[in-house]
Amino acid sequence: MDQKFNTKDRMNFFGIKPSKSLGQNFLNDISVVQEIVYSANLTEEDIVVEVGPGLGVMTDLLANEAGLVIAVEIDKNLIPPLKAVCDMHNNIELINDDILKVNIREIVAQKIEESDGKLKNVKVVANLPYYITTPIIFSFLENKMPQLRSMTFMVQKEVAKRMTAKPGGKDYGALTVTVGYFSEPEIEFIVPPHCFIPQPNVDSAVITLKLREKPPFELNDQEYFFKVVRAAFCQRRKMLANSLANAQYLGITRETAVKCIEEIGKSSGIRGEVLSPEEFGQLSNLLLHKSSF
Ligand code: SAM
Repeated sequence: MDQKFNTKDRMNFFGIKPSKSLGQNFLNDISVVQEIVYSANLTEEDIVVEVGPGLGVMTDLLANEAGLVIAVEIDKNLIPPLKAVCDMHNNIELINDDILKVNIREIVAQKIEESDGKLKNVKVVANLPYYITTPIIFSFLENKMPQLRSMTFMVQKEVAKRMTAKPGGKDYGALTVTVGYFSEPEIEFIVPPHCFIPQPNVDSAVITLKLREKPPFELNDQEYFFKVVRAAFCQRRKMLANSLANAQYLGITRETAVKCIEEIGKSSGIRGEVLSPEEFGQLSNLLLHKSSF
């Protein structure tokens, strides 16, 4: 395959028809691909995990910058164009599987061990399939790969706004608090629909999540914290005290919820969306202490 093959050439050459159900909106603007790779700030010491490499246009540029690219693509129809990209490099590992089923942690650990100290960091870079954006992001955040440094993703603009929202607004929610607990998110740039084939109905955004070296605040129980956050945003229109009491998995009464909310200096009638992530941390520590579990 000619290295200069663009997205349309590759689709024609390999007879690829984009699959809607697999979220296939291929990037058709090389300057956007270059910007994403630049935003990922790669070095030879990095392993890049690329989710959904598609036709391999970005994989090609990633392989020029990183020590190793592990490209995980679910669609077997895309393996021929991807193999053609692999043939142009000696540092791409292609895996034909579902990213949510692959044991990336184990594969990465093995690659680092085999590299004799040459590979040190993991960075995730992807134009994500929009139908499973959140499960993919959560799986990387919760997987706790010790070498994971950053994730640079194309997502729907709305999702990027939710990840970077401030308390109080309509975009602020469980996704904001979870992403903010594990990382520092920053929107890099906005990408309009005409940069893709086929064009999505919405604007997209490239966002980088820089993984935190240590948590931003102390939690007595991380799992309980995320349960409190889930309960708080499950019924956004309700008062926080009611939402918490209704969530049986928290094991608290309404009176306890009210007491704890007041103890962190807030009025008992507030909704969850006004609490900062740190205030959720304080609240969950108090609730856990008084929980019947
Ligand atoms: N990276 C390519 C680009 O920028 O042109 C393609 C991006 S397209 C938005 C999303 C890609 O993710 C598609 O190639 C799709 O087949 C792949 N994909 C969808 N679900 C997947 C999954 N569960 N695991 C791995 N890849 C997946």
